[in-house]
Amino acid sequence: MKQRLQSAKRIVVKIGSALLVDAKTGEVKAQWLSTLIDDLAKAKARGVDIIIVSSGAIALGRRSLGLPKGKLRLEESQAAAAVGQIALAQAWSEALRTKKIVAAQVLVTLTDTEERRRHLNARATLTTLLAQGAIPVINENDTVATSEIRYGDNDRLAARVASMMSADCLVLLSDIDGLYSAPPDKAGSTFIPQVDEITPEIEAMAGKPVSGVGSGGMITKIEAGKIALGAGCNMVIASGHEPHPLERILKGERCTWFMAPLSALQSRKRWIAGTLQPVGRLTVDDGARGALGKGKSLLPAGVKKVSGTFARGDTVSVVDLEGVEIARGLVAYDSGDAARIAGLKSADIEQTIGYRGRDEIIHRDDLVMTNGER
Ligand code: GLU
Repeated sequence: MKQRLQSAKRIVVKIGSALLVDAKTGEVKAQWLSTLIDDLAKAKARGVDIIIVSSGAIALGRRSLGLPKGKLRLEESQAAAAVGQIALAQAWSEALRTKKIVAAQVLVTLTDTEERRRHLNARATLTTLLAQGAIPVINENDTVATSEIRYGDNDRLAARVASMMSADCLVLLSDIDGLYSAPPDKAGSTFIPQVDEITPEIEAMAGKPVSGVGSGGMITKIEAGKIALGAGCNMVIASGHEPHPLERILKGERCTWFMAPLSALQSRKRWIAGTLQPVGRLTVDDGARGALGKGKSLLPAGVKKVSGTFARGDTVSVVDLEGVEIARGLVAYDSGDAARIAGLKSADIEQTIGYRGRDEIIHRDDLVMTNGER
């Protein structure tokens, strides 16, 4: 099982508040964090893309604001997050710097992963950060996220980020080492090392939310599993209590693996092909048609005609000169700009529309052939 983490190319690691923040002092557990950073630096040296989802803003901020112990009101937690997020970002930035890794703070709200245009933007920014060798450290923008538009917990947020970024492994570091058939202290409770499908029986095992400082619990982890598996991302729940939590998974310590039936790219492509109604059409010449058949992206140069009104991020149909659909994809320009750059070389995009957009009108990862070609 350890190979699953070893072979992952892009991982999202979620760290709960209870692991990162000392409940007694309200401070970051710097020593533990440095052992995690060692593990992350090793993975990065193997060429793995790493994205962190870190909780802890509320836990770090509440004391500085002099807020009472126990459950906070929503506006109190939002105020605490505003204070604690600064300390959280600083802790990550300093810890990563010891390994000469640049940290990038990214605060997201639900619409950033769920609404397609924002999703594409967030994806592009995170992709750029990864390409530049940085490690994005993500948290919910708690201070402005109102209850209707919240992820609410970082388990699900991390799963949505993993899905958005086509990660192949989501690691939920938790205060429990995995899933049990019943509460671990109950007689007859057994450990579940692997889940291939999240059935109602598996959901029933999650029981009620428990964890102390964070807002998660097993239920939100199972919800995260549904999102991750649906997006072709394997997920592992492992204990983060001990030092070097990722190395421990690699060494085969006990943890629960949730296995995705399809790969991330397959899932993304299926999503594009199946669930989205095209709102526009790009007619392409034979050269572009041939290139698409060879697995290339669609460049503006090969587009002959743009039909329909669409926004960047919408699904469009790609048709050949006879009007037969050959592919579908998420378009990188709105219809007005697409029409203006149709037929142009990518290098001329900026001059024509006044900003430097993507070179591709549909990137290969956002495109799926619908005519049976690959
Ligand atoms: N975003 C919250 C924080 O940073 C944590 C949410 C969670 O624990 O799931 O404090």
